[in-house]
Amino acid sequence: MEFSFILLAGGNSRRFKSNIPKQYHKIGQKTLIDITINKIKEFKEIKRIIFVYNKRHKKYLKKNSHKIIKFVEGGNNRKESTFKALNYLKKQNVRGKVLIHDAARPNFSTKLLKNILINSKKNRTVIPILKLQDALKEKLKKKEILNLERKKFFLTQTPQSYNLTEIFLLHKKKKYKDDDFSLIGTSENVKFINGEKTNFKITDREDYSFLKKINKSILKFGIGFDVHKLVKKRKLYLGGIRIPSPLGTLGHSDGDPVLHSIIDALLGACGMKDIGEKFSDKNKKFENISSSILMKKVVDEVKKKNYSINNIDINIIAQTPKLKKYKKKISNNIAKLCEILSSSVNVKAKTTEKLGVIGQEKAIAAEVILSVIKYD
Ligand code: ZN
Repeated sequence: MEFSFILLAGGNSRRFKSNIPKQYHKIGQKTLIDITINKIKEFKEIKRIIFVYNKRHKKYLKKNSHKIIKFVEGGNNRKESTFKALNYLKKQNVRGKVLIHDAARPNFSTKLLKNILINSKKNRTVIPILKLQDALKEKLKKKEILNLERKKFFLTQTPQSYNLTEIFLLHKKKKYKDDDFSLIGTSENVKFINGEKTNFKITDREDYSFLKKINKSILKFGIGFDVHKLVKKRKLYLGGIRIPSPLGTLGHSDGDPVLHSIIDALLGACGMKDIGEKFSDKNKKFENISSSILMKKVVDEVKKKNYSINNIDINIIAQTPKLKKYKKKISNNIAKLCEILSSSVNVKAKTTEKLGVIGQEKAIAAEVILSVIKYD
């Protein structure tokens, strides 16, 4: 079954009271939008993301971010924006299911999304809901208060799953109130599943502070170490930068101890084993391969698992060559490969005071500690 995902980010964030619209605020290195998109991308059955933006937010868009993301300019309200996205899908002759989601809810779990996708296979409409826990009252005229029966009420969340054609047609002819489920108007053929308390809507600054608070704790660390023999007739790469030197590193790949240590630290932090298991030195495919390519592969993989690199600290241990003038170039390149700011990468160069194999210029080593943040 094929799914399209409409991500509604066209709101004007009036209640959020900030110059930057709320959906483009960050947790760690990522905007709330990126956090959401990364989670969606984990699901292969979701073939396209229709990103509905506010025309006043154009400068925040990363137009070439990913080929599955299609951009549609939003309307004046949620209904108009949703309809524009549905219309876009219909014009492309897309069929199947559509998930509709508010970008102001970046904290849904992949478990919830998975549950929605599974239930969509057997049900026309799938809606995550929350039961009410607080007492529910209604203010009537003349200061009278009506005590409502809480059990009769529930709250709807997003993502909501619909049959694309059905919701498109309903949009054309029915009255809309707050969400698309208001168009369905019945519980027939609707599967209600448990929503999540943590899948709350970011409306004001208090919500954003709470989101930051609950996301902060998922910080992980990784450690990496690598050493390569220095020999004649080989090139020397450190952190993906070619360093002029009469001696180069021996290795199955280009033998870059800095990138290898970072890869190992990153795999370690994300609980994904080690570089030897990922890129075996028995595999011809990796012979003389640039370690930058291996690095990028690992960065992509950890991104898919919703990890974001927080900071990297590196010791390069070499008696020769002198690395002082390359440190900045190396840290900039690592930042580029890891898609983080260069201020988050720190490179230190050490010698061993001529002691041991490194001191005798027979090897170069690197050690790394880094931290990652996981959003889920
Ligand atoms: Zn290595």
